[in-house]
Amino acid sequence: MPNPELFDVHTHTQFAAFKDDQDAVIRRALDAGVWMVNVGTQQDTSAAAVETAHEYAEGVYATVGLHPVHTEQSYHDAEELGDSVYAKGFTSRGEEFDYEYYKKLAQDPKVVGIGECGLDYYRLSEDTKIKQRAVFERQIALAHEVKKPLMIHCRNAFADLIMILNGRRETLNAPPGIIHFFTGTTDDAKSLMDLGFSFSFGGVITFARDYDEVVRYIPIERIVLETDAPYITPVPYRGKRNEPTYVAEVAKKLAEIKALSYETTAQMTTGNARNLFLRHPDLLQAGQ
Ligand SMILES: [Zn+2]
Repeated sequence: MPNPELFDVHTHTQFAAFKDDQDAVIRRALDAGVWMVNVGTQQDTSAAAVETAHEYAEGVYATVGLHPVHTEQSYHDAEELGDSVYAKGFTSRGEEFDYEYYKKLAQDPKVVGIGECGLDYYRLSEDTKIKQRAVFERQIALAHEVKKPLMIHCRNAFADLIMILNGRRETLNAPPGIIHFFTGTTDDAKSLMDLGFSFSFGGVITFARDYDEVVRYIPIERIVLETDAPYITPVPYRGKRNEPTYVAEVAKKLAEIKALSYETTAQMTTGNARNLFLRHPDLLQAGQ
């Protein structure tokens, strides 16, 4: 079996949900030919993603960044942060983006991208939106400085996302990165493809049909797979904790929607992921 067969480009095995069996979960994936990127969401989970990546010779990578929901107060997900002192600390105030902290982590060779960063306007005040935009701009600058792609999270904010990225066009890397768990329209997809972005889809496509149109619209050359574990478990594992091995279910459904064979879907999406995240840094030329 070629290694990797599949690539889960957006997962969180460093989260508290895996604190008792993280190594078993990761080895299960690697044994099944699944490579992965553990995505950071704030300082703790970013540092933990890097640490985790170093425990494996190959197949486990990290991104580091500040998720838009963690720029605000009172957000606490026990699956993500557990009961750590840090979690309690930041629920009371939200995290300020510390450029130097993230830059230091981002220079690690196992770090393959910056994020998840972006905009999340679901139930937010105007003040928070302004803060999110500022924090996102700084992470675009960081991605430019370290020449690594962006791992973008965007919810209910595609117009602003596209506006910001267009404004920073000259500082985007080539390729610039991915929009994870893409929920935009085909028009949004078109604008983002023009900027060079790719898109990841996960478990939701196995049980909701709302994404079929946009999945058919985006060429397979611009699609990668994700689980977003521990969340959004695909059919037939609904109700269980999600994990990277289940990315195979996403691949099966994507093949069906795109009317491609499973083998072609696996090969293409894995190749896309390698080209995006495992290129030699020197090949990522800024400003093209
Ligand atoms: Zn995520």
